[in-house]
Amino acid sequence: MGSDLVYDALVLGGGPAGLAAAVQLARFNRSVLVFDGGGGRSSYHQVNHNYLGFPGGISIRDFRRASREQAARLPVAFIDEEAAAVSRQGSCFVARTAAGIQANGRTVVFATGVRDRFPDFPGWESYVGRSIFWCIVCDGYSTRGRRIVVVANDDDGGVTALQFLQFTSHVTVLSNAAQCGVGAKVRGELQARGIRLVEDEIAGVLGHDGILGAVQLKRGGTLEADYLFSLQGSNPASDLAAGLGCERSALGYIVTDMEQRTNVPGVFAAGDVTRDLAHQVATAVHEGITAATTANYSLYAAWQRHERYRE
Ligand SMILES: Cc1cc2nc3c(=O)[nH]c(=O)nc-3n(C[C@H](O)[C@H](O)[C@H](O)COP(=O)(O)OP(=O)(O)OC[C@H]3O[C@@H](n4cnc5c(N)ncnc54)[C@H](O)[C@@H]3O)c2cc1C
Repeated sequence: MGSDLVYDALVLGGGPAGLAAAVQLARFNRSVLVFDGGGGRSSYHQVNHNYLGFPGGISIRDFRRASREQAARLPVAFIDEEAAAVSRQGSCFVARTAAGIQANGRTVVFATGVRDRFPDFPGWESYVGRSIFWCIVCDGYSTRGRRIVVVANDDDGGVTALQFLQFTSHVTVLSNAAQCGVGAKVRGELQARGIRLVEDEIAGVLGHDGILGAVQLKRGGTLEADYLFSLQGSNPASDLAAGLGCERSALGYIVTDMEQRTNVPGVFAAGDVTRDLAHQVATAVHEGITAATTANYSLYAAWQRHERYRE
């Protein structure tokens, strides 16, 4: 299923990065098709309080809905399914869904985000963005004076737990693993600063409507908590880009230059999938617009380009 139509750009992902890229590309008068799986980090329940211009915060779902509406008012087409494969055919890229819908593009923007490894218990999704978070930059401020459980099983996680003391003195670290991976030095720091390290696994939670009351432990007992911060990491959704020959970092993120070019001509990347740090809506929007601008530039004929810009 497909047509001979060749879009100027195929955008993979309809979160903040992909929608920012699509809006900007359409405003360059380029034809754009967005493939979107509809999930990702911008699909949970959180209200963002650090995105400028919204004094009362902005629900990420509302943000995404409004951004999608903004794109839909422009000539941006959508396929509400994930692309399952992307390949190069001659001077074009071809993206295909698992159901066989396919489209051709002269450029591709990967804005596929990451997949978080949140604790797995019945109903966990209803808590994410309400009382389960992962990012101290985004949501540390909400924990002031509250009881938090930091799910972490390495030194980086232990150090982040120590940073939470900036907001609250009620911090507990839970390994959520059969064997604890926090090293002796960090363990010592945690103990010295009154942070309990619990070596046990999550059996479930006590709470309602996404609001946590306590974490239930496999060996019995509970940890009372207002918030749980999961520092179990995430997997960048970068396999399709790698299949096209895009370089990835040791952690699996798509490597780009400052203008969001990958090492493969015609292929760009934006948002959480490009970096280990600064996973923020503002960064995703910035990178999406930058990727669109660079992709647009690459689509001009040679005689339309300025000497001082690189292709
Ligand atoms: C609980 C929580 C709280 C947060 N709080 C804040 C905050 O307060 N402030 C802040 O700035 N940020 C916050 N963030 C982070 C922010 O949501 C992310 O940085 C942002 O969503 C990244 O945007 P993105 O477009 O790169 O990725 P995403 O929003 O994850 O979107 C990626 C999209 O790509 C789609 N996709 C994946 N693979 C494919 C494919 N093969 N084909 C087509 N589509 C595909 C996914 O379905 C998804 O729709 C929070 C995140 C979470 C989970």
